[in-house]
Amino acid sequence: MRPDILTPLFRDISGLNGIGPKLSSYLKKLCGSTILDALMHLPVDVKKRTICTDVMPLNGSLSTLQVEVEEHIVPKIKRLPYVVKGQTNFGAIELVFFKYYGSYLTQKLPVGKRVWVSGKVDVVNASLKMIHPDYICFLPSDIPEYEVIYPLSAGMSGRILRSVIAQGLELLPDLPEEISGAVLESYRWPSWKEAIQIVHHPKTLQEFEATAPARMRLAYDELLANQAALLLVRQHIKQQGQKGQAYPHQKTFYLRLPFELTKAQQRCVDEISEDLASTERMSRLLQGDVGSGKTIVSVISALQVIAGGGQVALLAPTDILARQHFAKILEFLKGLDIKIALLTAREKGKERTQILSALVAGEISFIIGTHALLEKEVIFQKLGLAIVDEQHKFGVEQRLSLAQKSAGVNLLVMSATPIPRTLALTAYGDMDISILNEKPVGRQPILTRVLSERKISELVQKLKAQAQQIYWVCPLVAESEKTDLMAAEVRFKALQKVFGDKVGLIHGQMKADAKDAAMQAFVSGKIQVLVSTTVIEVGVDVPQAGIMVIEHAERFGMATLHQLRGRVGRGSDKAVCLLIHGRLSALAKERLAVLKDSNDGFKIAEADLRLRGAGEVLGVRQSGLPSFHFADLSEHAELLSMATAEVKQLLATDKNLTSSRGQALKNMLYLFQKDSAIHLLKAG
Ligand code: ADP
Ligand code: MG
Repeated sequence: MRPDILTPLFRDISGLNGIGPKLSSYLKKLCGSTILDALMHLPVDVKKRTICTDVMPLNGSLSTLQVEVEEHIVPKIKRLPYVVKGQTNFGAIELVFFKYYGSYLTQKLPVGKRVWVSGKVDVVNASLKMIHPDYICFLPSDIPEYEVIYPLSAGMSGRILRSVIAQGLELLPDLPEEISGAVLESYRWPSWKEAIQIVHHPKTLQEFEATAPARMRLAYDELLANQAALLLVRQHIKQQGQKGQAYPHQKTFYLRLPFELTKAQQRCVDEISEDLASTERMSRLLQGDVGSGKTIVSVISALQVIAGGGQVALLAPTDILARQHFAKILEFLKGLDIKIALLTAREKGKERTQILSALVAGEISFIIGTHALLEKEVIFQKLGLAIVDEQHKFGVEQRLSLAQKSAGVNLLVMSATPIPRTLALTAYGDMDISILNEKPVGRQPILTRVLSERKISELVQKLKAQAQQIYWVCPLVAESEKTDLMAAEVRFKALQKVFGDKVGLIHGQMKADAKDAAMQAFVSGKIQVLVSTTVIEVGVDVPQAGIMVIEHAERFGMATLHQLRGRVGRGSDKAVCLLIHGRLSALAKERLAVLKDSNDGFKIAEADLRLRGAGEVLGVRQSGLPSFHFADLSEHAELLSMATAEVKQLLATDKNLTSSRGQALKNMLYLFQKDSAIHLLKAG
């Protein structure tokens, strides 16, 4: 249950003054539906209002002035403005209104009285004019000196948003402190409540900066919540701890591979092998650049479990990938007495029933599949190892749900999105990490070229003369397959004019059979060019494909581009990646240049972090990285390690967060919406 003290923050914004159904629907789109969401809608800029008592305001500046009201000039026709004339220390002023009339203005600006107005002033020939003052008050102290600017959207004005947030600030509770006294004192941070107030109402320019104590404190709160969530998951997995069975390393199966393992692969195999051999439950991330050979590492690990009498499940994010894994693994394990099966949404009816009963009976040792594996009906006799491929496509809950199919399941998750260490800690603090930092030998380097979209027709002519197979990836138009598809279809038709029936199209809206057929036609060489949306991004392996064309490369994140590029250069032919772009910002130019010059996923990830800041590392969604409101991992590495230490220390003595400080930390989990961790705490 959410602590009562937080209740006001989770109220719906539609209950606030002046927020009708229409505004509340705009607000929901802009920032979310609760008061907390509104308070987490952070300003992007701040402006200063100069109080002008002695010095004449500058033309166009934002100024606060005292006015002695002399006369109201009511317009004869409604469309003309309402003008209030008065005197300031610097001469006459006209206050001009287009929207307000009558009683509101006579009340706010009574003739003969002195009032303070604030807004943008026009100074022409020593006469002053202010159109629609932002503030009209009797006391100057009612006008803030600094005013923040929020990101807005259609239908929402800064004035309304400021009023919503001001009302939200009134509801802020005094929360118990979760940060240790030593840390608070050495940084002289304000309380959580004061910090939120300062973020929205800074009293100086310094208070608005990212390095201001209020911001640092909130970043720290956020990192504490993030680390607590991860450590709780880790603790939960370890607690379910004793596996009951260890799977010692034994040479029961002899694998004949067409290649030798790289040193890095061997090291990762050994690390995993040791985990499996111990009685503690494994929770490990295998991180390796695209093409580094993660699959075989996981298969060798699977054999160790199967040899010990356990079952293994491999979870893949797409149907294409599951099928490809299945085919490859069959190939790897040819001649071994191991029963393998495939289960996706396409295995239905009798076939599915047979697979399910063979699984319960323990007849199937190794099952490969998609989300279909997570369903309740999928029951194992003894699942010993769950492997999650391209894990960023799955949520924490999904990875835990597979791991909960039997008691003490070992968990191996694989990711091809290399991320800098600090980020790895925030995203995967719940796991041990193995890194594949070496590619199999004999890979052709991929030549990357960046070219303008004006060169497309020239390029198509050149490609026509090539014998190599080509992937042609179409732009990311929206985060929706439907919209992206239009761009792909247009390109498909254009390429058909040149390549005839040697062009195929593949996209996420296609039925699985049709997708398979298209992929198969490409694998067999029946089609030379495969036009696609980003469905081919993950995992697909077609060694003969040598050319990767990506249109509107500037719209993709660096991690995605690197992933896509990794689809070629798998065979022995020279591979080329062509990044085609439209208009480029300086930043976009630099990002493409990094890709052109480097083929190392870790280096690219570091550059991405440096160029855009962690909050923006694209991919936040694609790579499964958490997105932060306040913390910026390129700046706050030190805060992060402090937060980790602090949470570890607290959890060591209070693992369910029941002490008073534990409960204070739990509040932060709610405020930063760490639902999976909260869920685990409830479970006890
Ligand atoms: P990823 O890490 O991107 O999942 P894969 O496991 O799909 O990479 O491996 C990419 C390709 O490299 C596959 O065709 C695989 O068979 C091959 N491969 C893996 N390890 C080696 C190796 N040590 N030497 C040569 N080829 C390898
Ligand atoms: Mg893979």
